[in-house]
Amino acid sequence: MVRLIFLGAPGAGKGTQAQTLAQRQHIPHISTGDILRQAVAQQTELGQKAQAYMDQGELVPDQLILDLVQERLKQSDAAAGWILDGFPRTVTQATFLDELLLRMSQICNYVVNFEVPDDILIGRLLGRGRKDDTEEVIRHRLDVYRQQTAPLIDFYRERQQLVSINGNQPIEQVNHQLDQIVQKNSAP
Ligand code: ADP
Repeated sequence: MVRLIFLGAPGAGKGTQAQTLAQRQHIPHISTGDILRQAVAQQTELGQKAQAYMDQGELVPDQLILDLVQERLKQSDAAAGWILDGFPRTVTQATFLDELLLRMSQICNYVVNFEVPDDILIGRLLGRGRKDDTEEVIRHRLDVYRQQTAPLIDFYRERQQLVSINGNQPIEQVNHQLDQIVQKNSAP
C-alpha cells in the first residue's frame, strides 16, 4: 500500500511528480491546491472563502483545509493508497492528519521532501504564469513556506518518516528515484 506525503516549497515539482507517480501506482493524487483552485473556478462556498488568501499567497485557514482533506481521504478510491501534495502545510495540519489517519487505521509510509534552491524555484514559478505566480506573491509564498511549512521537515525527520530527494534534476530522474522509494517500501 502506497501512502505518501509530498513536501517542498512552491515550484519544487511536487505536483508534476505526484501526478505521474499516482498514475503508475493507480492511486489518487490529492492536491489541496488543485481542489481549492477548482472550488474557486466553480465559486463554491469553499472557493469564495479561499480565493482572497490564495491570490495573496497566504495559506487558507486550517479549518477549511482540514474538512476538505478529511472528506477526500474518506472517499472510496483513497482506500487503495494516496499521495498528498500540498498538505500538510502547517504543524496544526500535520497533527490533525496524524489523528485522522489513526482513526482510519492508516499509516503514511514516507514523507518525501523535494529540495530545490530558491533561485531555481523563483525561475520556475515565474515561467509557470499562474494567477498567483507574480514575483511579489511568489516571494511571499516562499516566506510563508519557510515560516509555516519548513518546520514540518524536522517534525517528520524526528519521526524517521522523512526521505529527501533532489528536485533540481531532470523530471525522469526524479521519477526514477521516487519509484525506488516506493519499491523499497512495498518489498515484503
Ligand atoms: P504551490 O505551487 O505554491 O505549492 P499549491 O497549488 O499547492 O501551490 O497551493 C496554492 C495555494 O492554495 C497556496 O498558496 C494556498 O493559498 C492554498 N493552499 C493549498 N494547500 C493548502 C494547505 N494545505 N493549507 C493552506 N492553504 C493551502
